[in-house]
Amino acid sequence: MHSESSTDSVTGLYESVPCNLCGGTNLRTVRPGRERSEAELEVRFKSSSDEALHDPLVECLTCGLQFVNPRLRAEVILSGYRDGTDETFVSQAPARERTFDKALNMIEQFAPQRGHLFDVGTAAGSFLHVAKARGWTVSGCEPNTWLGEWGKRTYGLDIKPGTLADGRYADAAFDVVTVWDVLEHTHDPQGFLRECQRVLKPGGFLIVNVPDIGSWIARLMGRHWLMLLSTHLYYFTRQTLAQLLQRVGFDVVRVKPHVQWLELGYVIKRGEPVAGPLARVSGKVVSGLGLGNLHVPYWIGQTLVIARKQA
Ligand SMILES: [Zn+2]
Repeated sequence: MHSESSTDSVTGLYESVPCNLCGGTNLRTVRPGRERSEAELEVRFKSSSDEALHDPLVECLTCGLQFVNPRLRAEVILSGYRDGTDETFVSQAPARERTFDKALNMIEQFAPQRGHLFDVGTAAGSFLHVAKARGWTVSGCEPNTWLGEWGKRTYGLDIKPGTLADGRYADAAFDVVTVWDVLEHTHDPQGFLRECQRVLKPGGFLIVNVPDIGSWIARLMGRHWLMLLSTHLYYFTRQTLAQLLQRVGFDVVRVKPHVQWLELGYVIKRGEPVAGPLARVSGKVVSGLGLGNLHVPYWIGQTLVIARKQA
């Protein structure tokens, strides 16, 4: 058990925020939070953190956006992303490349001329690596120093440290901006999407995926939904994401489920916090059969949106 003093200093790390979509402060608690220690906080913000959500989840009664509130202060979250290493994430690079090849098939239906593609929060750069091989001019940014360096070293990519805003890119610099597994982590999605809009050329495309709390699987699994993670601050539905995109100057042109390819052994390991003994037994069977590296499609309620910057 932890002392009262550590609980007090933890409380000082938190902030309450209004709705990021409509500014509303009339909020309903969807799931209450629980007390946590400073030691627990330190391990939270990694790119593939599997820790379940502990902080309160609320819903804006005006527009329906769901988000964590109160939550850790933005500067605490950002410093958590900057540091640390993530071998588990990098080990999935080949399977992620398969996911991204399929995504590019779709993106190129909209932007067949290719051009300059910028990937925000590119992690180890798997997506940029695949896009470059298909003829795109590519660059990206990544707040985690270790992941960004890994991508620069392994793939020879132009990856800037830090956030998109840190890069101070020119207006209309890019033809396509991709935002994979990032938006739900940001502390100001509206400000972030405005910045994406600013750096895109008029008519350029934004590709963004989110864990969709309105998806049938999220509703079916309820509090056991695997996407309810401590690092996810915002929980969009197709409706709330579309509203936010329209508000910052985008037209939504395509909405579809986002299927990811992962190694079977990794999928089972990720299921452990929820499935427990079943996942551990399955893991042993799968590795015993030598199937741990098999690429399998994985969908637990991710939605992908393609939006076009209004001219
Ligand atoms: Zn709202």
